Amino acid sequence: MNIPLAIIGSGPAALTAAIYSSRAGLNPVVFEGELDVAGGQLMTTTDVENFPGFPDGIDGFELVENMKKQAQKFGTQFIGEYVNKVDFSNGFLLFTNTQTIMAKCVIIATGAVAKKLTFTGSDMYWNKGISACAVCDGASSLFKNKPLAVIGGGDSAMEEALFLTKFGSVVYILVRGDTLRASKYMKAKAEENPKIKFLYLTQVLEAKGDTTKLKSLVINTNGEIQEIECNGLFYAIGHIPATEILKGQLALDDQGYIKTIDTITNIPGILACGDVQDHQWRQAITASASGCIAALQAEKFLSK
Ligand code: NDP
Repeated sequence: MNIPLAIIGSGPAALTAAIYSSRAGLNPVVFEGELDVAGGQLMTTTDVENFPGFPDGIDGFELVENMKKQAQKFGTQFIGEYVNKVDFSNGFLLFTNTQTIMAKCVIIATGAVAKKLTFTGSDMYWNKGISACAVCDGASSLFKNKPLAVIGGGDSAMEEALFLTKFGSVVYILVRGDTLRASKYMKAKAEENPKIKFLYLTQVLEAKGDTTKLKSLVINTNGEIQEIECNGLFYAIGHIPATEILKGQLALDDQGYIKTIDTITNIPGILACGDVQDHQWRQAITASASGCIAALQAEKFLSK
């Protein structure tokens, strides 16, 4: 199949790129992966309260569905298959399980996955107190004036903990080692906050609660086991960009994110947007914004 524009991904970056590019008449085809897992990280967020335009909040699933409908309205074609392999050595070839596609221009928006931990109760309380995004989920009524915890020792952990102090009664930062990896500035900000308590050399052994919500954590601090009251646990232990198929094809940074300047990669005609090229901001709205830029860049490239 020969197409002008292929978009790989199914989250807000891919869908915004699809809306803009189909509206501009570029006839994009979106490879959204298997349908049961399409939609990206928003699909597991129950209440999105910070995407502009929804004063009462919106369910993550519904927000993604709406974006998809909007892209379809302008003629975007969706294919429910993964791109398993790419070859950018002579034109842009994409391979799925059933077909080979030759595209004139490609937008990569495959996202990144937050790293999670596994311990007793970690699956049971996922989305019932355990989350990997404080900014997305922290304002939930589940966490108001309750003890909360963040796992991690990097800048994300500091930032998430500081954000959570607006809601929780106390925020524990659970650090596996005896030092922080966070920058001096972020570390100082967290240390100055009276609501934040650091527990070093600490691992979570078990999450406990009732059938609907998390209530406590069993933790091991340097060999001492204790149970602490905790209604919200947030992982801030890094993300993994979905760039496995791009290794050796496109310039990636040392963490595996695609290197971009305004969504332009090192290969003219290959653009990247959303979390796959952004390890810092990682919000639905910033992913959408970069999807818009990528579509405008594609339009420029294809009109040459
Ligand atoms: P980092 O990789 O910097 O930090 C990850 C943290 O998670 C480390 O403390 C690490 O511990 C810990 N960790 C990893 N795996 C586990 C595990 N299995 N169990 C317990 N702890 C674990 O990731 P971040 O997301 O914090 O930051 C990514 C990048 O984004 C950085 O460059 C950062 O500076 C930047 N950033 C900047 C911000 C800002 O300036 N406002 C805000 C957010 C991110 P250990 O140290 O022991 O390896």
